[in-house]
Amino acid sequence: MATGFMDQVNHQFDRAARFTKHDPTLLTQIKACNSVYYVSFPVRRDDGTIEVMHAWRAEHSQHKLPTKGGIRYSPDVSEDEVMALAALMTYKCAIVDVPFGGAKGGLKIDRRKYSQGELERITRRYTFELVRKKFIGPGVDVPAPDFGTGPQEMAWIADTYVSLTGGELDALACVTAKPIAQGGIRGRTEATGRGVYFGIREACDTAELMKSVGLSRGVKGKRAVIQGLGNVGYHAAKFLQEAGAVLVGLSEYEGAIATPKGLDIEQVMTHRRERKSILGFPGATDLVSSEAVLELDCDILVPAALERVITAENAPRVKAKIIAEAANGPTTLEAEDVLLQRGALILPDLWLNAGGVIVSYFEWLKNLSHVRFGRMQKRYEEGAARRLLEAVQQSTGKQFTEQQIGFFTEGPDEEDLVNSGLEESMVSAYHQIREIQQRHDAGQVSLRTAAFISAIDKVSRTYEEMGIFP
Ligand code: NAD
Repeated sequence: MATGFMDQVNHQFDRAARFTKHDPTLLTQIKACNSVYYVSFPVRRDDGTIEVMHAWRAEHSQHKLPTKGGIRYSPDVSEDEVMALAALMTYKCAIVDVPFGGAKGGLKIDRRKYSQGELERITRRYTFELVRKKFIGPGVDVPAPDFGTGPQEMAWIADTYVSLTGGELDALACVTAKPIAQGGIRGRTEATGRGVYFGIREACDTAELMKSVGLSRGVKGKRAVIQGLGNVGYHAAKFLQEAGAVLVGLSEYEGAIATPKGLDIEQVMTHRRERKSILGFPGATDLVSSEAVLELDCDILVPAALERVITAENAPRVKAKIIAEAANGPTTLEAEDVLLQRGALILPDLWLNAGGVIVSYFEWLKNLSHVRFGRMQKRYEEGAARRLLEAVQQSTGKQFTEQQIGFFTEGPDEEDLVNSGLEESMVSAYHQIREIQQRHDAGQVSLRTAAFISAIDKVSRTYEEMGIFP
């Protein structure tokens, strides 16, 4: 059985590869992590002491360039972890037709123990090391946020890269999820959580799948539990709540809260900001541990913190009918077997949390084209729609209200275009995966296996078209 995270991903790959007819050597090439860069460097802490940092960047596959993947700040970061996460990025990009190879970076630190100034020094030095070894660049490898990082770290990375490579026209495309003023794109911050919501919505709209888990169709009224209220978890919770789901349990590293009546995500976030803890939220019960939230009675469980939290040990007690993998690799192989055997539906990470990389792709394109999406056509489209409405008014004699005119004529801005591109990518990837699942025996091919088959077929096609493999 798989021991490490990379073994786990490779086992999942092998399960799927059995359903394909690709050359075995090609499959070995696809699975292999092409390059891993390990670096350690000293950083001066605010108190004057020096600490040695350990960091990695793995580029799993260069079959498409640049490679792409987040940078994680966590005390659990290891070479095995970044390699596994980089591999998942390769498969994820293929599934949603984003033309990148997979990569991932990690720094072994608990960010809560460092000041802003220290984090800035660490991030800039890490970027310097990546530049030195050509592990970053708009056409080489383009990082993004992951666990423990966000737009602030991306801003430092972009600034360091630009200053070291002076004069590169496309330099800002070296990293995504930057602040807007630095070339970021509207909608990127919430993209992964929004994509998770689109994915859950599609699955909940599929009558056959809902029948298999004994639930009615639609997100409305479904009881959801979220583990981890960071970028992905918070936004997934927000969009689920807006769609009418009832948040019956929420957890953070300090503990968890639950109530069958439902929690308001904004109120919980405000409470946590003020009290520095999720615990003690009025009207909710504190749970004994943050992990206990995984075992709550609910319809949809959304792990959105770290990998390998649903294990052989706790899987028999997980009651959720749908496990929506917002985090990467939250379910171990052994746990997956337990869950599938009792008929649960797993919405796999390598498709469900692809929203971030989809919108990062849009940001990268925006940076390369040096123009904001919608800038050229928005006014033109508004004019065209207005002329059409005027023609309808003239020919029918019907007068539209100002509100109706505004509704029909407002052209799309950048955020509208980004969100619609994200929705389209998530929905069409879902239907491709479902189609693969239905082509095989659904009893044998889970959605995860179908997603891997999709990825393997697409990456293989690239290699085959290059003429490297038969
Ligand atoms: P984040 O750092 O913004 O949020 C993670 C949250 O989880 C933090 O608030 C942290 O306090 C909390 N947490 C840590 N340990 C916990 C525990 N034991 N129980 C409950 N909560 C805990 O990170 P993120 O960007 O939201 O990433 C979360 C997951 O989503 C990761 O697996 C990441 O790889 C995956 N992911 C992120 C993106 C993205 O765009 N950021 C894209 C795809 C996948």
